[in-house]
Amino acid sequence: MAKRLATAKSNYTPFEQPTPQNVDHVKGDHDKLVSDEGYDILFEKSVKCPCKQLDRNKTHTTCVNCNGSGWVFVNATTTKSLILSQSKQLKFGLQGEVLNSGQISVTPLSGIVMSENDRITLLDSVGVVSEQPRPYLSDTGQVILKFNYIIKSVETLFKFISTSLPLQRIEEEDYEIDGNTLKLNADKFKTSDITFSSRYFYNPQYIIVDVAKHVRNIHLRDELGTLNQTVYPQLCIARLAHYTFNQDENNIDNG
Ligand SMILES: [Zn+2]
Repeated sequence: MAKRLATAKSNYTPFEQPTPQNVDHVKGDHDKLVSDEGYDILFEKSVKCPCKQLDRNKTHTTCVNCNGSGWVFVNATTTKSLILSQSKQLKFGLQGEVLNSGQISVTPLSGIVMSENDRITLLDSVGVVSEQPRPYLSDTGQVILKFNYIIKSVETLFKFISTSLPLQRIEEEDYEIDGNTLKLNADKFKTSDITFSSRYFYNPQYIIVDVAKHVRNIHLRDELGTLNQTVYPQLCIARLAHYTFNQDENNIDNG
């Protein structure tokens, strides 16, 4: 459940009254608000993966740097951020589809500078998601299922056999969780087993899709009437990662 963004207390003098269009932020107030009300997050900066230069039209699902997403995430930092769900502001397309599912606003501490495609993970929140994993074969022929998120625990895992047979439940002892992959028991699963479905718990992970307010310096007058330069905090829009990176779900190759 997202916390609401509280209103920062104003340090403005009567000469600098804030207007509704220009919400006031004073660095000290802002950072205290983020520290008190914010979520613990893991913040990772994005870098374009050079594998895209090999062939721009191809998704390199075996790239160990980006897993085919085209982006590498570096400099993982634990920090705080205000998080506000935008579920009350859903936008609908012509066919009634929701255009901004899983979208949140992110307001980091004033020293943190976020950019488009950076990634944040909510460390104290747990979500559950249903996903068809991408199957890979290890060098030894073991089937490895790759998911969008780091798996905390698996709620259900099924193998699809055919449309005329019920889904086959896979028991806990037949797989091993390793980050965002499940390694299946090599004695029981073979290369033809490529269609699975799972529901699992994860720490919600978001990709920054827009920086609504970039960092910029502004001048604010303190209680003595002196103008001081300060940094206007960022406001970013982020979306659950699986809405932003379209990875091929049905490829099977050596990964
Ligand atoms: Zn790559």
